Amino acid sequence: MHYDYLIVGAGLYGATFANIISKQGRTCLVIEKKNHIGGNVYTKNINGINVHMYGAHIFHTSDEEVWNYVNQFADFNNYINSPIANFKGELYHLPFNMNTFKEMWGVETPEEAKKIIEEQRAKEGIDNPTNLEEQALSLVGRDIYEKLIKGYTEKQWGRDCKDLPSFIIRRLPLRFEYNNNYFNDKYQGIPIGGYTGIIEKMLEGIEVRLGTDYKTFLANEAAGKDITFDLVLYTGPIDEYFDYKLGQLEFRSLCFKNEILSEVDDYQGNAVMNYTDRETPYTRIIEHKHFEFNKCKGTVVTKEYPAAWKPGDEPYYPINDERNNALYEKYRILAEKEEGVIFGGRLGSYKYYDMDKVIAAAIDAARAEL
Ligand code: FAD
Ligand code: UDP
Repeated sequence: MHYDYLIVGAGLYGATFANIISKQGRTCLVIEKKNHIGGNVYTKNINGINVHMYGAHIFHTSDEEVWNYVNQFADFNNYINSPIANFKGELYHLPFNMNTFKEMWGVETPEEAKKIIEEQRAKEGIDNPTNLEEQALSLVGRDIYEKLIKGYTEKQWGRDCKDLPSFIIRRLPLRFEYNNNYFNDKYQGIPIGGYTGIIEKMLEGIEVRLGTDYKTFLANEAAGKDITFDLVLYTGPIDEYFDYKLGQLEFRSLCFKNEILSEVDDYQGNAVMNYTDRETPYTRIIEHKHFEFNKCKGTVVTKEYPAAWKPGDEPYYPINDERNNALYEKYRILAEKEEGVIFGGRLGSYKYYDMDKVIAAAIDAARAEL
């Protein structure tokens, strides 16, 4: 068999690319080392609830083209992400907005909230933040930093906030309005029926081989020339592709513990509850039915435990610090010289991409090919 493309990885990037090029008449074979499609966005129906098996995924974008593109494959509901922070039993609305400030200080007007934050910022006297702690203190002051940022962040990343780059929290909105929407984007929602259905539709009519690792595939099926292809689209880890010859890129991992509670209809009254103290070992509890306004009997909750990463573990968050970014840059240069291979996706480009950015990048890559 001959294919125009061998696509490595049936995540959102590989599936988008495969979908677009196959519609234009190119042939492709998708190989995926897991036993399911979807990569990180994989959802599984458990007792009538679509469970996000690799962490909560909320689709949000301001990119009209990406929004129109994904809407071909699913209808999206109007879920708006509004997490609650739980600090030792005290509950606060997120992201930081007038509801949070009212709960934290009892203030009611933007002017009162701004005054408190200004006073706290001035006390810290930080003009040029050089790390996450300084960034947070100069943005929201000490009260919010200590109750809602420090513990969560140190658990999440396994490092002191002073040793983390500030950009990690720059994406958190700060608003002086009563508005609990976690995102600022124009479009937001959860696909009705789950994300796996989107990937299935994208890959309709395309040959997919599950449980197939790239290197093993090259050594077996492709070695005897039974299967040939012109180009490879590789969405696995870039350092793995090059056999780690320049060193290993680091990731932060996660461990998800699912609990099926058939006797409980509503566990926490919200999809996302963040535990922002240092002592609770998990960072958040997800109650999946709330993503889809599902009123079924029973519920499924997932506790998300941050975990150290070692080679072989599931790579979740790239650690984009100086060391890793410099190493990635060296791999990127190697990748550019690698003939017949396109690298893409969050592992192939070592970037913490949201779903919409992954789709946009895959659309661009497919266009460049066509
Ligand atoms: P992946 O989904 O990782 O797909 C890559 C695929 O390649 C995988 O299936 C993998 O098994 C396969 N593969 C790797 N190596 C090989 C190999 N050697 N051979 C064969 N197959 C291989 N984004 C949002 O927009 N909103 C959110 O709310 C959100 N929440 C998130 C929560 C968590 C906990 C995490 C970790 C990410 C979240 N994201 C979110 C980001 C989102 O998951 C990614 O943008 C997206 O899934 C990346 O798609 P991808 O195809 O690049 O990578
Ligand atoms: N964060 C925090 N407190 C919270 C939620 C997030 O301090 O209650 C910080 C934390 O450092 C985290 C970053 O903000 O790594 C980004 O959070 P977001 O929810 O955007 O990231 P996700 O992990 O969902 O991709």
